[in-house]
Formats: sequence, C-alpha cells, structure tokens
Amino acid sequence: MRILDDIKLDYQDVLLRPKRSTLQSRKDVILERSFVFYHSPKIWTGIPIMSANMATCGTFEIAKIFSHYKMITAFHKYYTIKDYQKFFKTFNNPDYVCYTLGIRDKDINQLKLMKKNGLLKKFSFICLDVPNGYLQSFLEVIKNARKMCPTHIIIAGNVVTNEITEEIILAGADIVKIGIGPGSVCTTRKMTGVGYPQLSAVIECADSAHGIANTRGVGRIIADGGQQYPSDVAKAFCGGADFNMCGSLFSGFEQNAGETVIKEGKKFKEYFGSSSNKAMQDFYGQKDAHRASEGRYTLIPHKGDIHEFIQDLMGSLRSTATYIGARQLKEFPKRATFLKVNRQLTTYLEKYDEEK
Ligand code: 5GP
Repeated sequence: MRILDDIKLDYQDVLLRPKRSTLQSRKDVILERSFVFYHSPKIWTGIPIMSANMATCGTFEIAKIFSHYKMITAFHKYYTIKDYQKFFKTFNNPDYVCYTLGIRDKDINQLKLMKKNGLLKKFSFICLDVPNGYLQSFLEVIKNARKMCPTHIIIAGNVVTNEITEEIILAGADIVKIGIGPGSVCTTRKMTGVGYPQLSAVIECADSAHGIANTRGVGRIIADGGQQYPSDVAKAFCGGADFNMCGSLFSGFEQNAGETVIKEGKKFKEYFGSSSNKAMQDFYGQKDAHRASEGRYTLIPHKGDIHEFIQDLMGSLRSTATYIGARQLKEFPKRATFLKVNRQLTTYLEKYDEEK
C-alpha cells in the first residue's frame, strides 16, 4: 500500500486570477480552434465542446442544434443502423458528430456493419467508450479500430492518469477521454472508492498527451464530466483540455430526450447515468447480474431552450478570456493562473443555485 499525498484538485478548488488584457470587447475573442492529430490526417475546426454520449443529450435532435454552433454531439450507444440510415438522409455534417461504441463483440460487429453500409463516413469522430480504460484488452481494441478506420479521429477512454494516456495514444487513439467518477450522475466513487479529482486529472493527462508528438500533430484530451457551471468548462480549457464533454450541462432542456415530469407544479426533465438501473432497464431490458449500477437517475429542473444556454456558455467563455487576457481559446492554458481556494466556494455556489 502507498499513499500519494500531494493534493489533487477539482474544479471547485480553484479560481482564475484576473490579468491585464488588451481586448476591446468580448466579441473579439475567438472560440474556434483548428486541431491536427497524432494519427488521423483530418484537420478539425470548430468550438471544441461536446454533448456527452448519454441517452438524454447524445441525440439526433441535439446534433442538429450543436452542428449549427460547430459543436460536437457524441451519440449514445442505443441507436441502431436503421436509425442512422434514416438520420443521415437529411444530415450531412461529419465534423460535428461522433459515433460511440463499447468494446464487446457486438459493438465491433456493429462498427463493421456501419462501415459496410457507408455510414462511418458520415462521422469524423469515433469514440471507444468504456468506464474503465485500464483493461489491457482495451488497447487491443484501439489498435484494431485504428486499422479498420485509418482516417477517423478516434477518441478512447475513460482514464485519469498520465502513463495510460500515453499508451492509449500510441495504441491508435487521437484523443483520450479523461474522467473517472466526476460525472454528476456517476456513483463510481461512492460504489468503488476509485477516482481522481478532475481538474488535476485534466492537467496531468493533457501534459502527457501534448508531449506525444509527430510531424503531423500531438495527442489530445477531452475533459469528460463534472462541469457543473460554464466556469468549469473554462477551467478545464485553462487546465489544458483540448475538448470539453458535458452531460448535465446539456440536459434538462426542451430539446433533450427523456420525460418531462411535473412535481408540485414545477417542471423537471429526466437525466440518468448510462450505467444506471434506469438505462440498463430501458435499453437492455434488464440489469446485468454481475454489475452494480454506477450511475443514478435524477430530475433536473426544466431549463427551457438550449439555444439560450449555448449563447450563455459562449458568453461566459468570452468573458473568462477577457478576464485572463486571452484573445482566443487556444491561449487559455498559457494565460491561466489558478488560485487554490477553500471549499467555501462550493457552498457559495450551491447557495446561489438554491436561491435561483
Ligand atoms: P456530467 O456532465 O453529467 O457531470 O458527466 C457526464 C459524464 O459522466 C459522461 O460523459 C460520462 O463520462 C459519465 N457518465 C455517464 N453516465 C454514467 C454512469 O452511469 N456511471 C458513471 N460512472 N459515469 C457516467
């Protein structure tokens, strides 16, 4: 047994120190980025924010909206080939959609079928998504996926430490998805005791990924989960995340899937973890006997129209940029100085939520 005693940080443990800025207006801040990758020859341009591959927000409806803002939607795993065939009759914007799959035989068979049916070329991104990216077999699946899809931007995760981030990139992924346990409906930390404070995981894994370089590009990471406020998205970018993936921030809106529930006269929308009992029951008809649920079901107070929130999120990022003196999103990590704060900030934000 060993204890590592340097303190690891979550988003709520830090604030950003304001800095001198020469920007005239928030409008001048450039949020778009262009990325080149370690394996894929594609050059991607857009706002590097993704809707999580979850039943409520990884949907066709959200993709139609997000692609308009040059943001990405990672589809949930429950769509069938028929669903995709129908959707892609009217949607053709590969740069802003991501096909998600697990690593079971049935997932790989579906990937092969997607390729055979010409559907994979409708996506720039493919995400190999497992709760525990430390399984040795995961690296083999990544290697095979790279052989099968040499030009796609391959995302793989989830992990939280630097050595495995490097291994995953070297095995064939362009982007590593970072986060074990930070998700708002994730119960992994409670059920298993495993996890890593998310801001530190992002900072450490970004550092490793960016250190893996070739003549084409560098390794990239996604900060996945745990962003409770727009400020957390900004903090993840400041910590070196190339992309942010969010579930709860992009759920609870009119345009999300899931029931609208009325309780004591107030409107709510459903939001639930992909390994919650609810998801297993709804999509597989039963819960795996050997698996404990590591996700929960919750009702989010109805948040109205998602367009308004996206505008707010962009506005917040532009505002962060002006406070820290960054002219573009790309400069966030260079301009950022984090201040460690005590946990009173969390209490303050929770109180703010209650008052709202
Ligand atoms: P949020 O943005 O809601 O904080 O977190 C979204 C992320 O939580 C997802 O992208 C995914 O990585 C993770 N997640 C989603 N469902 C589950 C689940 O049932 N269990 C666990 N452990 N994580 C989940």
